[in-house]
Amino acid sequence: MSKRKNNGYKKSEKKRKQSNKPFGKKNSPSAARKGDKSKHPTTNKRHPDKTVTAEVTCTGLSNTGKGIIQWEGKQLEVEHLLPGETAEITVSTKGRYVNAELKRVLTPSKERIKPMCSYYYDCGGCQLLHMNEQAQTRFKQETVDKLMKPFGKPEPILTMDHPYDYRNKSHTTFGLNKERQIIGGLYAQNSHKLISMDGCLIHDPKADEIWQTIRDMMKSFKMQPYNEDTGQGFLRHVLVKVGKVSGEIMVVLVVASPIFKGKNNFIKALRKAHPEITTILMNVNNRNTSMVLGDQEKVLFGKGTITDILCGMKFEISAKSFYQINPVQTEKLYGKAIEMAQLTGKETVIDAYCGIGTIGLIASRKAGKVIGIELNKDAVRDAIRNSKRNDVKNARFFQGDAGEFMVKMAARGEKADVVIMDPPRSGSDEAFLSSVVKLKPKRVIYVSCNPETQVRDMKYLAQNGYEVKRIQPVDMFPQTVHVETVAEIVLK
Ligand code: SAH
Repeated sequence: MSKRKNNGYKKSEKKRKQSNKPFGKKNSPSAARKGDKSKHPTTNKRHPDKTVTAEVTCTGLSNTGKGIIQWEGKQLEVEHLLPGETAEITVSTKGRYVNAELKRVLTPSKERIKPMCSYYYDCGGCQLLHMNEQAQTRFKQETVDKLMKPFGKPEPILTMDHPYDYRNKSHTTFGLNKERQIIGGLYAQNSHKLISMDGCLIHDPKADEIWQTIRDMMKSFKMQPYNEDTGQGFLRHVLVKVGKVSGEIMVVLVVASPIFKGKNNFIKALRKAHPEITTILMNVNNRNTSMVLGDQEKVLFGKGTITDILCGMKFEISAKSFYQINPVQTEKLYGKAIEMAQLTGKETVIDAYCGIGTIGLIASRKAGKVIGIELNKDAVRDAIRNSKRNDVKNARFFQGDAGEFMVKMAARGEKADVVIMDPPRSGSDEAFLSSVVKLKPKRVIYVSCNPETQVRDMKYLAQNGYEVKRIQPVDMFPQTVHVETVAEIVLK
């Protein structure tokens, strides 16, 4: 495993080591994640509430990377437990919910490693830091293989050489600790408990340096962190987007009110500390919501967008538009998608759920024409700008629901040779898929960040004249349980 070079993170490395206590102590998996809601409904029978300790052996991993165990005839999942390990766990029963938590590993697996991040057991943003790289890769491969079984064996997963520092986008939240000092960090998963951090193993190191500078500037600028409970305070979040190839950096200050006292001096000081920042925006979010960004946006410095280079093309990215968070792996993913599309220069290609137009514009170099469809207005505007920036003349982008758009296309009797689709985690819908079946493209290339919904949608296509030819998993989100897949689906 390679260590990161970032100074912002290194400073805290020592602190992290000191606080990295063994299992069973404060920083142990059992003590962590108090707000965890991942309980397992197992039976409809009501049990009396109780908590017991049990000694168990882990027999495998669930799709969410948790250790599978048997307890009193039931299958339960235990976070941070590995196959083959024996462990002491606590099992709490509340009504019909049974929740198992790791207390102590008795015989550790050879694949267990000490997590490189001391926030791991509190944060929950990563789920696989206790596994070595080989085990992570095997887990992801086996998960995809199992899910995709109805369609044959997927290709070996494309892994990442340096599986850290990859996220080009990060949000940080601010608050006060018990001593009323300003802290910044991430919410523990499934909770609104803010964990004070000095960096994150998978964030871009520069992004971490920037939000830490902001945290440290807040006191002298009398800038209060926003408090969700009282609605008091000003700075809610900092969103940083980094163009990994271009080096351009966007900072979005998400604030609770449009009245930004001392704005000019704050921006001046931030730019002085980080001359590499190319644009700064203010986003006003005055709603009581867990959404990071609000509707009002104001550019405070620079042009309000950043540009990055992907597969040799330039892409302009707004604060709100979606852009793949791991560009190194995205190039591999898109490369496979384009290869699977088998374009000859004549085809009409639909890029559905196109975001800022990345896949469609990359495909346009080998296609007759490209039609992109996307729901988010800002992303569509970026896609249109991006086609101009790259001098693409054969691509058109439309704003709307991909399903409705396809229904209209099918009703008008329009033709498409290839449909590339990349829906959000919830997958596609019947309107979209039934229109694909009517349009009868020769190929459907399905890019997905959630293989479970992808399987559901591919079953529909398989029942309606299509055949899944090839499935390629890509590790876009190392250290987490998430996996991306691209499938080549052809008309029979
Ligand atoms: N293909 C792009 C974006 C993929 S993310 C890329 O690789 O960068 C999924 C995209 O689907 C997001 O941009 C989201 O805004 C969009 N989306 C979500 N629901 C949609 C819908 N019903 N119709 C069209 N687009 C949708």
